[in-house]
Amino acid sequence: MSAVSENAVSMDTLVSLCKRRGFVFPGSEIYGGLANTWDFGPLGVELRNNIKQAWWQTFVHRRHDIAGLDGGIFMNPRVWEASGHVDEFNDPMIDCRECRGRFRADTLVEDALGSSVEGMPPGELDKLIAQSNIACPTCGKHNWTPVRAFNMMFRTQIGPVDETATTIYLRPETAQSIFMQYKNVMQSSRHKVPFGIAQIGKAFRNEITPGNFIFRVLELEQMEIEYFIREDAWEASFEEWLEAQQAFLYSLGINPEHLRRREHTADELSHYSKRTVDYEYLFPFGWKELTGLAYRYDFDLRRHQEASGVDLTYFDQAANEHFLPHVIEPTMGVERLLLMVLLDAFAEETTTDAKGNEASRVVLRFHPKIAPYKVAVLPLSKKPELSGVADEVFRSLQARFVTDYDETQSIGRRYRRQDEIGTPYCVTVDFESLEDHAVTVRDRDTMEQFRAPIADIVDIIAEKLG
Ligand code: ATP
Repeated sequence: MSAVSENAVSMDTLVSLCKRRGFVFPGSEIYGGLANTWDFGPLGVELRNNIKQAWWQTFVHRRHDIAGLDGGIFMNPRVWEASGHVDEFNDPMIDCRECRGRFRADTLVEDALGSSVEGMPPGELDKLIAQSNIACPTCGKHNWTPVRAFNMMFRTQIGPVDETATTIYLRPETAQSIFMQYKNVMQSSRHKVPFGIAQIGKAFRNEITPGNFIFRVLELEQMEIEYFIREDAWEASFEEWLEAQQAFLYSLGINPEHLRRREHTADELSHYSKRTVDYEYLFPFGWKELTGLAYRYDFDLRRHQEASGVDLTYFDQAANEHFLPHVIEPTMGVERLLLMVLLDAFAEETTTDAKGNEASRVVLRFHPKIAPYKVAVLPLSKKPELSGVADEVFRSLQARFVTDYDETQSIGRRYRRQDEIGTPYCVTVDFESLEDHAVTVRDRDTMEQFRAPIADIVDIIAEKLG
């Protein structure tokens, strides 16, 4: 194999690979689609599940201080009043009067001036847009409406009759059901502060300018932990969580040079946070937020205690005192992690084939832990005498690993397909297999091949996958 040349992937290339190979499809396509909605295909759902499983294993199963929860999407609307989302979960919106383009005013300014203005009040954004003479990115004109706050929660109604129905919200974050259930979880699982509650679930945000493929979507899945602590422990806990988030991202096989931390300025902090640090990833469209870590102090429990009149304090037996726990919140979105692992795994290589000709291949170098298929069984031909052995090999591997089986097209094309979907190992069954009861194993990354006895194939693949 010759030297490998790797190129940063463009979003267009990735989007088309995702569709062609069954990771991500545009939603409702036969009706012209619905902007910024996506469906996850056979490989996309495996990848999603692997990311979620890795997260759950790391933070729930391999710790003793975090318990799981699966809360409902619908909640009493008073939750969202008390949490501040009804009044404050807003993005600044601006319209172009000429072409009717609609934009998030802070991103408009950021893209034009290159510095973050998240959290800047509408009036100041108006001034800055005028002073800096920022043009509409679509039509180039300068005829803007004033900036106004736009609440990002989706609303719907419970009840059969419009007049009597109750307006409810689709949750914009999973955190609130954790606050609602924190006492139940604590009492049923007998956890003591410090402890955490973890949840993976859907959240919905009526984003003004979604886009960049699955980076900003309307329906997202969050993986969130609310970690309950004593107030005086917050700084140490914050540092620990920064490290834990980083270790998790690295464990997915991400190039550390593509990750960085970014501290939020006082102006851009969310209404509930006293300190926030994001991990940002170097996407093809720039450094953007991947994960967040927020010190929510006792904001949520205090607001819910006040609004509901229910005592939400924790009783510390050793110290014989009641207090409201403070909270550190590590959060990340499944779609952004999925986009990250696809981008980070992508490589386009120039190699030489067996005949010495130059050839190119696209390979997704997924960490084996998250690869949709761990191994593929490829009988060299469709002849029945091979199918029997191939089927036997397939069944033994399938009992242990998510395994693909492919007997169409030339073996070269099948290898290329498996490279493109990131399968770490291919197992080829050929006519020799009938004699020597062995198969050829091919390594995705090195493309090296070796012969292995069928009797040992499951153990060999298990060992290779680590
Ligand atoms: P942004 O500044 O990009 O809008 P945010 O600060 O509003 O994000 P958080 O409220 O901290 O995001 O949400 C936690 C995590 O959920 C984010 O780090 C991100 O991974 C994910 N996330 C948030 N909004 C979206 C979205 N519209 N689409 C996909 N993922 C999202």
